Amino acid sequence: MTRDLLIRAGDALLGERRQLTMDELAELSRVGDDAVPSLAALAHEVRLSWAGPTIDIEGILSLKTGGCPEDCHFCSQSARFDTPVKSVPFLDQDEVVAAAKETAALGASGFCIVLAVKGPDETAMTRILDLVPVIRDEVGINVNVSAGTLTSEQARRFADGGVHRYNHNLETARSFFPEVVTTHTWEERHDTCMLVREHGMELCCGVLLGMGESRNQRLELLDQVRQVEPHEVPINFLNPRPGTPLQVRKPLSALEALRWIAVFRLGLPSVILRYAGGREITLGDLQSMGMTSGINALIVGNYLTTLGRTPEDDLSMLEDLQMPIGVLSSAI
Ligand code: SF4
Repeated sequence: MTRDLLIRAGDALLGERRQLTMDELAELSRVGDDAVPSLAALAHEVRLSWAGPTIDIEGILSLKTGGCPEDCHFCSQSARFDTPVKSVPFLDQDEVVAAAKETAALGASGFCIVLAVKGPDETAMTRILDLVPVIRDEVGINVNVSAGTLTSEQARRFADGGVHRYNHNLETARSFFPEVVTTHTWEERHDTCMLVREHGMELCCGVLLGMGESRNQRLELLDQVRQVEPHEVPINFLNPRPGTPLQVRKPLSALEALRWIAVFRLGLPSVILRYAGGREITLGDLQSMGMTSGINALIVGNYLTTLGRTPEDDLSMLEDLQMPIGVLSSAI
């Protein structure tokens, strides 16, 4: 019975303080739609107990947009698809520092600079390594980077250069990956995740749900994310972009999105679980329900190629929920 299942999971996570097995998580992921709010309530309690009450917010900025040679079928920055996103060269240093200052003023703990590349070439490495100390010193905020797959040498240089957290998404289950990306392998992504940790940076490893993967493949992905031991997991939902091969796919239903937010929290009790792209189109008016289903972090402002809610809307949602922002807890 669902009620017993939830009680047993609560006892394990909140009483014994042990992580659930994948079998236990698989059972929980199959509760009926009517039990999703109860699953979400448990995930919220687990979040408060394992990760604390505060909400972490982060801003992201695309340092180099579009023109990527890879063929990720969900991505409007691929040069292989005819999308409205056009290639834009590097932003200059003043623009980046100004954006970092705006982000810090919102109470963000981190600012992530993102490049649409397979991996950084020497020009990109130099640009990023020049920017990191300037942002840190002038703005006083952690600088995170997302610049594709890395070699061991590149990971070492980023770690030595002061990059706090490196983002590299597994995106989807290993068994589903070849259906949505053919120009690089899941293993390449996995290897970069391991290098990030080996060189002492925090690992941010995100997922993208709703690309046509099965429920079993979502569980497979959760297991694979657990194995790379990330510090942070952004949850993205597919926002089908015009011109991409996945443009015709229907977004996940709000209830299904909440179910998986909760399952990911129950499987990753102490991580920073961040609301990321696609939440507006998927959850609509139910944004705040995600915050009580296991989420404890937000990307505020716009995403890389799509517009997000305004930061004011998100800050007012947190105020309504009486959820304090980590670095601004006295102000909310
Ligand atoms: S590697 Fe990154 S930027 Fe390039 S197509 Fe894939 S998701 Fe988009």
